[in-house]
Amino acid sequence: MSRAFVTGIGGQDGTYLAERLLAEGVEVHALAHDIEPLPDLPGVELHRGDLTNVPDVRALLIDLAPDEVYNFAALSSVARSWAEPDLTARVNGMAAAALLESALLVQEKHGRAVRFVQASSAEIFGEPDRHPQDESTSLRPVNPYGAAKAYAHLMVDVYRRRDLHAVSAILYNHESPRRPEQFVTRKITATVAAIAQGRADSLALGNLDARRDWGWAPDYVDAMVRAARADSPNDYVIATGVAHSVRDFVAAAFARAGIDDWQDLVVVDPEFVRPVDPTELAGDATRARTLLGWEPTVGFEELVGRMVDADLAQESSSRPSR
Ligand code: GDP
Repeated sequence: MSRAFVTGIGGQDGTYLAERLLAEGVEVHALAHDIEPLPDLPGVELHRGDLTNVPDVRALLIDLAPDEVYNFAALSSVARSWAEPDLTARVNGMAAAALLESALLVQEKHGRAVRFVQASSAEIFGEPDRHPQDESTSLRPVNPYGAAKAYAHLMVDVYRRRDLHAVSAILYNHESPRRPEQFVTRKITATVAAIAQGRADSLALGNLDARRDWGWAPDYVDAMVRAARADSPNDYVIATGVAHSVRDFVAAAFARAGIDDWQDLVVVDPEFVRPVDPTELAGDATRARTLLGWEPTVGFEELVGRMVDADLAQESSSRPSR
């Protein structure tokens, strides 16, 4: 039986990955942050720790000697990275570098390959010089989150040159009903559901013109598992290739909830407008399609529909019965 080690298990991608690996019979070990509540993931062996504590995490990794390492732990919010740039650098950048070194140590000690997947981000491209972006697009991050992820991305290549099967999956925005509400998609679907059910009267957002390439999170997890197990390591853009504006997302969400006349329900609040924000990000996943046989299975309308439906169901089931 193979063994995987996952950081960031409690997040959207971590839970989908855990379910996927357990279903395959993989033994799943995960780092669970000291101060956060333990995620409810039956079958996963949780180890308390902090990714920025390099000696402890290294000792744990050497002890477990996993076959696959998935580094999903991160301060995952661009918005929060502006408030905590130094913590973002430590978690999203330096901790990834230390984990790569730990994986290499495991590989050298046990004399067998360790496969490492770094969850990178389209934010490493910042304001890109070409559309859509691919693996050869220049790194030009425009926020602390993107800069820290860019450092980790570069370190993956450094370790690949040392014969580690190290993969950087350059993930475009990927969403699901498990997305927390600090992200715009879930904020929209949760609020639209609340408006449809008479428990909210408006939706306050920032930049409605920002365009993002939104995909279905389990598809992106599938791409990362494929990349871990491919014959050779590489960087992969994982994206649908199609960008939509925040306004498009809002319109699709209201349509799904059966509300046609929504313009007056949306207000722009400067609190949610960012100091610098990439205007458009869309990825060209040709390499992943060609080398990994990967393709996205859920389109934009379906993605929005699934998220709105989940929020409508959740909010009705959590209402007190009369
Ligand atoms: P990100 O692309 O990883 O930062 O994911 P987000 O879901 O947080 O943001 C996606 C885009 O939505 C960005 O361009 C934001 O500026 C834009 N946006 C507009 N209004 C909001 C809002 O109220 N909350 C968030 N989180 N993003 C917003």
